[in-house]
Amino acid sequence: MSKLTDRYNRNLNYLRVSITDRCNLKCMYCLPPGGDFRWLAHSEILRYEEILRIIRIGVGLGISKVRITGGEPLVRKGVYAFLEKLGQIPGIKDISLTTNGVLLEKNLERLKTAGIRRLNISLDTLDREKYKRITGHDAFKEVWAGIEKALKLGFHPIKINTVAMNGVNDDELTELALLAKSRPFHMRFIEYMPFTATEEEKRKRLLAPEIMEKIRRIAKLYPLKNTSFDGPAERFRAEGFAGEIGFIRPLSHHFCHKCNRLRLTASGCLRPCLLSDRQTDIKSPLRKGASDDEIVEIFFKAIRYKPMAHTLNSENRENIESVMSSIGG
Ligand code: SAM
Repeated sequence: MSKLTDRYNRNLNYLRVSITDRCNLKCMYCLPPGGDFRWLAHSEILRYEEILRIIRIGVGLGISKVRITGGEPLVRKGVYAFLEKLGQIPGIKDISLTTNGVLLEKNLERLKTAGIRRLNISLDTLDREKYKRITGHDAFKEVWAGIEKALKLGFHPIKINTVAMNGVNDDELTELALLAKSRPFHMRFIEYMPFTATEEEKRKRLLAPEIMEKIRRIAKLYPLKNTSFDGPAERFRAEGFAGEIGFIRPLSHHFCHKCNRLRLTASGCLRPCLLSDRQTDIKSPLRKGASDDEIVEIFFKAIRYKPMAHTLNSENRENIESVMSSIGG
């Protein structure tokens, strides 16, 4: 059992680590509207040795699952050697990586050597032009080549994350679901989480029941039981499909009551809730020479502030200042 039990009796055994806020894409849902942000300076970002130390201490407290994310994790220099070292930390049962896939094709062998088997790849459209509109870059071909090669090289599972947005990719969701028909992909449709409460943001809202209805027109869905590695996705077997379909529903059926996640931001903060800006600085004490016991205390302090639930659905919702790319999604 995790020693990281919060005040609502949730055991936090899953650490999501953003190793950089930098990204080679500028996705419309990830960066703040208006593009008003600046990258963190190198000195502000946790060094690999610092991240590894924090993870090692976290593992001693019961963390058993680690996801590496960003920004785009594959743009950070030295990431493959880092992943290899991460794989050597005893006690981690599951290491996975979330990537936009742009740099995947050339680097899959290195990821394999580093011990990565589980991949989450973000892909919101199959249309090259639309891809460009959503992400600001003409990189659909690279991403698709990476996905196909990952399949050939035996990565499993390959989860494809699609953020579903009205007026953006709502017309393509069944086509995306069909990717899992002949290939063993795990498609994951994620409800778009608006970081601000503007009308434009609200219009993009597309909830899972509506997405499911669309997908049920092309296949019968049968619920699957979650394993301990599945996180909050509601999973379904689709009749006649090699892969599966899943939904991540932070809005229509939020999973806060069973949230087991803690995040380490690229800037060096422990963040107990993606959708709340309350976080605890771990980098400064670390750089001032904190002992392992002192770092443990910072873990405990951080989880004290994990809220019972996020407030995105409420009238008095908390506005979130942090940028997704720094938190890691
Ligand atoms: N660069 C990597 C990638 O693209 O997968 C990792 C970082 S990205 C922030 C991690 C995940 O967060 C992606 O799957 C992305 O689709 C998701 N995400 C970002 N902003 C989101 C939002 N506003 N609502 C829902 N999901 C979001």
